[in-house]
Formats: sequence, structure tokens, C-alpha cells
Amino acid sequence: MEYVNSPDFAASLDKQDPLASYRNQFLIPQVNGKDTIYFCGNSLGLQPKTAKNALEQELNDWAALGVEGHLHAKNPWWSYHEMFSEPLARLVGAQPDEVVAMNGLTVNLHLLMISFYQPSGKRKKILFEDGPFSSDRYAMASQAQQRGLSPEDVLVEMHPRQGEATLRTEDIIAKIEELGDELALVMFGGVNYYTGQAFDIRTITEAAHKVGAIAGFDLAHAMGNIPMYLHNWDVDFACWCSYKYLNSGPGSISGIYVNERHGNNPELIRLAGWWGNDPDTRFQMPEKFIPSKGATGWQLSNAPVFSMAVHKASLDIFEEAGIGQLRQKSELLTGYLEFIIDDINQKAGNVISIITPRNKEERGCQLSLILKENGKATHNALMKQGVISDWRNPNVMRIAPVPLYNTYTDVWTFGDLLLKQVHA
Ligand SMILES: *Cc1c(COP(=O)(O)O)cnc(C)c1O
Repeated sequence: MEYVNSPDFAASLDKQDPLASYRNQFLIPQVNGKDTIYFCGNSLGLQPKTAKNALEQELNDWAALGVEGHLHAKNPWWSYHEMFSEPLARLVGAQPDEVVAMNGLTVNLHLLMISFYQPSGKRKKILFEDGPFSSDRYAMASQAQQRGLSPEDVLVEMHPRQGEATLRTEDIIAKIEELGDELALVMFGGVNYYTGQAFDIRTITEAAHKVGAIAGFDLAHAMGNIPMYLHNWDVDFACWCSYKYLNSGPGSISGIYVNERHGNNPELIRLAGWWGNDPDTRFQMPEKFIPSKGATGWQLSNAPVFSMAVHKASLDIFEEAGIGQLRQKSELLTGYLEFIIDDINQKAGNVISIITPRNKEERGCQLSLILKENGKATHNALMKQGVISDWRNPNVMRIAPVPLYNTYTDVWTFGDLLLKQVHA
């Protein structure tokens, strides 16, 4: 598309946007009595207007029914998690029994690594992307320690080439081949939280399998952002959170994917709890744990219905909008942001660099910007003017225009304010 840096052009794109009405399904935070320009959906997505009713439904059922709500609530609590298998499966490209909503993200990362990080003999190493989210690094290091291994010996962080900000797929593949039979697990993000780089999940998985390693992905920044096909890509396992692009509320329920080949293997080591037991015998409280088939066999506890209620309200919106259509808009919207940043650089003399890949196949909606000067001060000044974005030390401003509720006018206005700021 031929973009133009003007408010009229942005307004015309908004007018033609087939997803424009979805913005009205969300509560937009206000600053100075006006809608903010909210670019933090990569950190905490906005509240769907339907969330409150969904939550009230469960509170009312609890009030009216007490324990009977497990069977007789509008959405019976004992089988509550089952409502998520279809919509989550569509978002990650899985079969419904390969996914389940449960726990928090880091908890799930641990539960999955208990099963899928099985160091033995010389095969002990975990390969991961440059600069992973702190929690993932802690999880991997403590998993190593848990097996009596030293993190320095087994954790391999994959750095970009000198002078480059992101990783090349060919280099990741070469590293996997180099590690060969020492490699137990490739544990990458789907989209890196800092650079916004989307990894080639299919190619990385294929390379990992070729050397006999397992491939797992933390999809915190990919879920609800880019379409995925985990089953067809033969990914072994994955997990995500629902409070970023999935708009399910602070600390809301996470989810996991386990490939059916593993999900149907009852011998696979896992930490067990009653909710992961075969539902046919769960309430007979058998002495021996019989894992439920599929990803549900990794559940430990009964469903946290309040956070799941909001999750359901939010996923209903994704079901209607469709991740394919969302992605189409997302590419255009982030493409517009990229165009505006390039235009600012032309006008103000290369003051901003974009570290996120230029190739749209290698990114989601987020662009990570480095301002040559006064980055933090610029960010703070924009926040005061109602641009909500995220600052990451040492020097990155992360801007995530979300196709469900952001507009082309949001992007244009941001550019306008940013240009005034870098000129000031
Ligand atoms: C957001 C995020 C987390 C946060 O973990 P929680 O357990 O949900 O607090 C972890 N890892 C990645 C990659 C993230 O982006």
C-alpha cells in the first residue's frame, strides 16, 4: 500500500477498516478526559466491555448456587476449562485436545520443562534466543539446577551477529546443527518481547528434530498477535499468557499446547494433580493417577473460574473477528507505523532506529524503537500527552498497535506528537 503521512489519509484507512467496529467493544483508558493512544497491548491488553457481565455471571451463580454451581451454573465450573479448547486451538493452529487453559505462564513453563527437558548422557543443553524474558531465563536455569546441572554448562544463549539486533534463521539452524547430540531442548519465544522479532517456528522445530532435540516455544508475545500452525509445524510444546494480546485481564489464566504424540503418551513424566486425571475416574479419587488424554493431562487444579470468565469473554471476540483477518489489518497498521517513523527520520535526520525486522513475516504488531537521544524523556513526555507505550531499559520504546482496538489515526497522531518531541 502507498501510505501518506496525513490525518486525512489515516482517517480514510479507518473508514475502510472492516474491523473498525471492534474498538467500540473495549474500554479505552482516558488521560486529560480523552481516549489515550494505547500501544501497550503487548503488556496488558484492554478490557472488553463484556468482561464485567461475564464475571458477574459467575459471582451470581456462586451466590445463588454455592457448591451446586459446579454442575448447575450457566457454565458448569467442573468442566469450565473445556470451553477454551476450540478457540485456543484455532489461535495456535492445534487440535482441540492439544491445548488447555490453566495456571500462570511461568508455572506452565516449569510444568512443561519437567516433561520435556530430559537431559541424559551428553544431551543436556538448552538453546534459547538472545535476551529472553527474565522469567524464562530463571525458569530454564532453575530447571537445570533441579536436575543437578549447572546453568553455565547447559544454557546456550544465541546472540545476533556483530552489529545486528535480531537473529538470522540460518544462524539459528547452524547453531542447532553445531550443538547436535548435545542439544536436549530448543526453547525460543514465538515473538521476542524486546525486539519484536517473530521466529520461524516451523524451521526451528524441524532443525531441532533433525538432531534429536525437543522444540518448545513461549508464545507470550505471539498469541493473539500472529497466526500459528503448531500442530502442522510439529512443535512439541508451547505456552502463553492471556493478559497481553488476548485481553483477558491482569494475571489471567495461561494456556499450554502439547503435541498429541506426547499428550497421548501416559508414560511421559509430569507433575500430576487431580484435575489432570481422567475425568471418568477423577471423582472416584483413585489411588493411581491416570492421565487424561491430551494437554488436559497436565492440569493440576480445578478451574479458576473468575479469571477464566473474562478469558472466555475475550476469546469470543477473537472467534468473531478471526485471527486471519486481524493479522491482515495488523500488517497494514504496523506497516503504517513503520512508514511514519521513516518519514520522521527524513524530516528530523535519522533520530530513530527500528530494531524490529523490516520483513513483516518476521514480526508481529510491535515495533521496537531506539531514539538516538533523550529516549526516556521523550517517552515520558508522550505518556503525559496520552500516548501509553512501554519503555524498556536501556533504551527501547516498544510500540504495539493492536488491530482489535487501535486505529490508523492513533498511529498518525503518535507520529505527529513524536515528531514535535524530537524537534523540540
Ligand atoms: C509476559 C511474559 C512472561 C510473564 O510471565 P508470568 O508468569 O505470566 O508472570 C514470561 N515470559 C515471557 C516471554 C513474557 O513475555
